[in-house]
Amino acid sequence: MSVERVENLIIVGGGPAGYTAALYASRAELEPLLIEGFQWGGQLQNTTDVENYPGYPEGVMGPEMMNEFRAQAERFGTRFVTDDVTELRLTDGGVHEVVVGDDTYRAKAVILSMGAEPKRLGIPGEMELAGRGVSTCGVCDGAFFKGEDVAVIGGGDSAMEDSLFISKFAEKLTSIHRRDEYRASKIMQERARSRDNIEFLTPYLPTEFVAGDDGKIAKIRLEHADNGDSKELDVGGAFVAIGHRPRSELVADQVDVDENGYVKVEEPSTKTRLAGVFAVGDLVDHSYRQAVTAAGSGCKGALDAEWYLRDMPGPSPEEHWYKKPGEIVAAVDSAS
Ligand code: NAP
Repeated sequence: MSVERVENLIIVGGGPAGYTAALYASRAELEPLLIEGFQWGGQLQNTTDVENYPGYPEGVMGPEMMNEFRAQAERFGTRFVTDDVTELRLTDGGVHEVVVGDDTYRAKAVILSMGAEPKRLGIPGEMELAGRGVSTCGVCDGAFFKGEDVAVIGGGDSAMEDSLFISKFAEKLTSIHRRDEYRASKIMQERARSRDNIEFLTPYLPTEFVAGDDGKIAKIRLEHADNGDSKELDVGGAFVAIGHRPRSELVADQVDVDENGYVKVEEPSTKTRLAGVFAVGDLVDHSYRQAVTAAGSGCKGALDAEWYLRDMPGPSPEEHWYKKPGEIVAAVDSAS
């Protein structure tokens, strides 16, 4: 089905950034359409207690918080498609097309908020023990591990950042990396090495996260990267910090992306190189990656889209005749 109606704004991706963009855009009476994904809610859908989102003094469960974000956007008129976008045909100032399976939606402006996902080790126990001692977010979950022995896996800046944060709470933290050389910046490594309760274990690769009788993680099985020797480490928590993958695959050849696939925007705005296309949240941000920063970015995206739609009269519906993404065939002159 091809929908003839040209929406003011389509938002792609239902995490904190997308729902916040939808809230602002619907309050601005743009009647946004949010294509939120089949597994809407983003990374918070896999998160238990969230204690660092302002306004929830007792904390809140991640899925419940996403439900509330969604309900607030719905209250002001956001419409939802609970499915995954399969193709995006973006233009430079024209009408954009968003394809969901057999359906094609059109819009004058698009906000990209597809987020990012943490990279996984792909080992037994990793998914099974997620939320039971295995985490991919040190800043979110570190404080739950007071007095525990924990491990952080990875050798980049995220692993160092997580280690520095979590070691404030943990009794002992083992930094596990698959090579002897760390990729992290020198200053971050030095900070981590100066902490008394951080130990470094290299070159080791985790091969399994093992649960104890209480169903929570109890140990990590490890393999020496060079000689294959095995080893076990008793832990009360394990943090996988081996990088993130922005979910930019549908747009990477249409907007500018950096070498890791993050969408580039004209900071401090959320404008991409295509007029009428904005990008927000973890799709853009490889540094902060918090629900609250994603929400703030979603707000900026909605305001940018609102100003774009206000300042430009907007293309006529005929202007969606284009040859390929970014290239618009001259519009029909309505005066002739
Ligand atoms: P990253 O720099 O890509 O580092 C990922 C680390 O995980 C690498 O050490 C890598 O090992 C390891 N790794 C990847 N796949 C693995 C696997 N399957 N098994 C075991 N180890 C694996 O990612 P990041 O640390 O998230 O940083 C991303 C970007 O954000 C970087 O540009 C970073 O500088 C920036 N950042 C900056 C800060 C800060 O300045 N405060 C904080 C966080 C992030 P190898 O080294 O062997 O490849």
